[in-house]
Amino acid sequence: MGMSDKGANQLKDKRVFLRDLIDHGYLEHGRPNDRVAIRITRQVIARGEASLSPNQKRVFKREVLDVFVTVECKGCGSNVPWSEMYPAFLSGGCCARGSHNLYR
Ligand SMILES: [Zn+2]
Repeated sequence: MGMSDKGANQLKDKRVFLRDLIDHGYLEHGRPNDRVAIRITRQVIARGEASLSPNQKRVFKREVLDVFVTVECKGCGSNVPWSEMYPAFLSGGCCARGSHNLYR
């Protein structure tokens, strides 16, 4: 598998993760910003982060990435791939591999 395949898969996994957040209502907090965050997230799913304006990127980072994305597993410190991002969020920040993950 070449780098481009890996990149394409990660992009797909990222889209699935963002769709999970929307579908399960995690972006709806009853705040005025919700609609904006959801619209921006839908745009990222459809056209990628590169399509966002600088202002939209700030909102996307603050409302979505900073809140829901686990960069490092809290249990073992490994990088969490996009394919494991949703279970990692549900389990409080642990990857899907270690026994420290209560979600599995
Ligand atoms: Zn881990």
